[in-house]
Amino acid sequence: MKPNEPDWPSLVGLFARPSWMADAACRGEGHGKYVIDVRHAPAEAVLATCAECAVRADCLAYAMAQPDAVGVWGGTTEEERQVQVRQEREVAQRQQRRKVVRPAHGEPSGNDGRTRSTRIRSV
Ligand code: SF4
Repeated sequence: MKPNEPDWPSLVGLFARPSWMADAACRGEGHGKYVIDVRHAPAEAVLATCAECAVRADCLAYAMAQPDAVGVWGGTTEEERQVQVRQEREVAQRQQRRKVVRPAHGEPSGNDGRTRSTRIRSV
């Protein structure tokens, strides 16, 4: 960046499309077919196009990184992507809980052999 340039992205950069979109099988087919008509029940023709698309993985990765992406992306619906995000989050939370509960072999467990008793006092 040059010294006097602002440190915000250019408008061209903000509105630039990812390069993989140039190879999209749905390119030029119209936005509505993929977003509006198939919002919750994608037509077989749309999914068939996605199945043949050379950039399907890029398309899906792009949509997974955009929580507000609507319609079909990478051969998935919004609902399918939301389910996937939820499942990935649950797996990550389970793995995190396991790390806390079960320390790796050889690491201290946090229990030094002494037993602490907890008494519940009622007033
Ligand atoms: S995967 Fe489907 S929605 Fe994505 S670019 Fe290809 S045809 Fe279009």
